[in-house]
Amino acid sequence: MTILELQRTFPGLQTGKSMHRLATELYPLCRSITGNGFRDSLAILGREVPLNVVDVPTGTKVFDWTIPQEWNIRDAYIKNSQGEKVVDFTRLNLHVLQYSVPIRETMTLAELRPHLFTLPEHPDWVPYRTSYYKKNWGFCLSQKVLDSLEEGQYEVCIDSTLADGRLSYGEIVLPGATADEILISCHSCHPSLANDNLSGMVVATSLARLLAGVERRYTYRFVFIPGAIGSIAWLARHKEEALKIKHGLVVACVGDPGPLTYKKSRRGDAEIDRAAVHVMEHSGEPFNVKDFSPYGYDERQYCSPGFNLAVGSLTRTPHGQFPEYHTSADNLDFIRPASLEHSLQTYLSIVGLLEKNRVYLSLNPYCEPQLGKRGLYRSMGGQTDEPANELALLWVLNLSDGQHSLLDIAERAGLPFALIAGAADALLAVDLLREQAMEAKR
Ligand code: ZN
Repeated sequence: MTILELQRTFPGLQTGKSMHRLATELYPLCRSITGNGFRDSLAILGREVPLNVVDVPTGTKVFDWTIPQEWNIRDAYIKNSQGEKVVDFTRLNLHVLQYSVPIRETMTLAELRPHLFTLPEHPDWVPYRTSYYKKNWGFCLSQKVLDSLEEGQYEVCIDSTLADGRLSYGEIVLPGATADEILISCHSCHPSLANDNLSGMVVATSLARLLAGVERRYTYRFVFIPGAIGSIAWLARHKEEALKIKHGLVVACVGDPGPLTYKKSRRGDAEIDRAAVHVMEHSGEPFNVKDFSPYGYDERQYCSPGFNLAVGSLTRTPHGQFPEYHTSADNLDFIRPASLEHSLQTYLSIVGLLEKNRVYLSLNPYCEPQLGKRGLYRSMGGQTDEPANELALLWVLNLSDGQHSLLDIAERAGLPFALIAGAADALLAVDLLREQAMEAKR
């Protein structure tokens, strides 16, 4: 099966619902940049796709960084003087400052306060806070609960361990006809947060499963990594192989109801940038395009100057631009099956475009060939949009001079890529085109 055939038979909302179910299963696990919650999550994804888990030991140097100690947590709570748990990690894992060192003490509210984090502007929400690289402990709670606490003694318990271990990441490689790679990178290190980042994990997993069943020109590499340190570790271990990555997308925040947003690679005019924009332009739906900036997710590392890979990021509402971001309100209700499904379809359309994008050479460059006698006028593929089809044939014939890819032609003609690619297939079938190597164009 080709990606095009897959797109025609796409199961639709059913897929969105199954992705939401997978997110629901992953939601309660306490993921962090290291530890059992991360590995348990990879094990769940590994049921869906052939995922390889790679470990990097604590203390390993990865470029300018060092793999941190492994953090694991079993329980955490604050009990009031009546013995009631006023904050309970087992009810919501966001309640603990990530990477908290262990503590078991009784203290006054005044002593406890510097270790409590709230969101006064959203008094019912619990914030998500981390302290990966500075030793600290703390609790996150709603402003409402904090306001309800009376003066007195509180029993504080964080049953965590911070010890030498390993950082783990998950990797799926789907070999294609060429060694050139398309990278899909997904940070997977957040605890109970749905849009950032369970939505990315389930969309990437579904995309891998779908692509595993189709013919592939490109080799696909999916990485499920802890944010920042994970991509740094991956790149440090694959400094040479990273050059095989010809196109890449960082996937995150793909489940909210907002429109799609594409953040360009550092290069700005890479094939992936143009492919993503082209697909969204012809989708008939609202979308946003942003230029690269050295902030955001792991594109920061892939687009660092030493690598400068053609890696963009396709999200819906970008990180930090929805009020629920990094709070307990980024929950399973915030992500929608329809949005997950639409995001997956868009990813599929973009990689489908990259798979089909070629440079051809017209074998009849002196004036137009006579299409009628080859059965190409008013009969192509039985499609309804005949004038557009004819125009697509003429554009492909005119610009197939060995210098223009099908995406170049689609952009210049202002026609959808699928129409241009269909015209090229029809012309190939009657021997009016032949493929030209595309390397020079990249
Ligand atoms: Zn985040």
